[in-house]
Amino acid sequence: MPKKSPAFTRSAAFAVGEEQCLCVDINCHRKSITVPVTVVLGPVATPGLLRAVPRNPRQMTFCCGKTQDLGSGTCTSVSAGKFGPAGVRLLAAGVHSTVRNNLTLRVDAKKHQIRTYYRALFQAWGPQHWWPAQSRFEVIVGAYLTQNTAWTNVEKALTNLRSARLLNVRGIRRVSLAELERLIRPAGYFRQKAKRLKIFVAFLDEQYQGSLTKLFACPTEKLREELLNLHGVGPETADSVLLYAGNHPVFVVDAYTRRILARHEILPQEAAYDEIRELFERALAPVAESVADSGATGNQHLAAGFPGAAHPPSAMSAAKRTALAQVYNEMHGLIVGIGKNYCKKREPACKECPLSAFLPAEKPRLDRVSTSRN
Ligand code: SF4
Repeated sequence: MPKKSPAFTRSAAFAVGEEQCLCVDINCHRKSITVPVTVVLGPVATPGLLRAVPRNPRQMTFCCGKTQDLGSGTCTSVSAGKFGPAGVRLLAAGVHSTVRNNLTLRVDAKKHQIRTYYRALFQAWGPQHWWPAQSRFEVIVGAYLTQNTAWTNVEKALTNLRSARLLNVRGIRRVSLAELERLIRPAGYFRQKAKRLKIFVAFLDEQYQGSLTKLFACPTEKLREELLNLHGVGPETADSVLLYAGNHPVFVVDAYTRRILARHEILPQEAAYDEIRELFERALAPVAESVADSGATGNQHLAAGFPGAAHPPSAMSAAKRTALAQVYNEMHGLIVGIGKNYCKKREPACKECPLSAFLPAEKPRLDRVSTSRN
């Protein structure tokens, strides 16, 4: 087996597709680039398995100990003539010898950890009843307004819109921009946000004849793409709209999620949004299956005692949704409960936190040291 090239190191690994597939980021120090490589494990990479691996023009696929370039034009970021395929192949060979022992276990452990957090928090706090809204449009407006501001400020802006009878598609369509800015001023960045709300309604009118029902009937991936193309909509806002207004099964990643993952050494603070989202979605899918099998809807009454970040039940929190969407909904609410009450940016209260038992053994003193960069 060739020796590993010193030009490359493995920086991170995360699951894609089937359990036997890993996507490994490889840093090339000479060129200061990162190359994602898909490593397929197992004695034989079956065509079915390979189809499960999302293809990316910069990915190369390896099968077992042999290197195998399965696509044309793969790995475009590392030129073949210099140290591309050869360098990556050397590394992949090195990865293969350790993958089964380390990486697979690590990926499985991460998913297991997330499921454990879900169960521990849900048992402690019960249903969180997110999102606090009476209509799908109210969720959408809330998702826009909550960007870079506290929810208490959003509530004031929503109250203003409700009092003016403008908290609906028609209302935002007909109100003047200046008046909208005035009403949502408590939420901050009111000029930007007023413009963005107007743009959303224009998009809804042009693409879906002003109908939220038509909008949310759209397949998840397509709609996510369209929302992300709108001015001022990032992944967190798009996913909040999809999950909480449309009951589409997507997990919402926020700053609290990143902070907890980083402090528990599950993923680094700067991990890509979609990497975190996919990790949670894969980890929580089995939980949703057990919820579906048990017939529980997850819309029970509020648990007694300290409820994390729970809201009173609302029309939207009690809306009918799939078990998968319900579990994603719940997990995000539970994470907000941890972030708001314990895992603060400075001075996290680890001793009292329900997740303290899961802190990495070598890092038990977070309640005295702030580690967040967010
Ligand atoms: S407060 Fe401490 S124990 Fe709780 S999630 Fe944050 S780092 Fe973990």
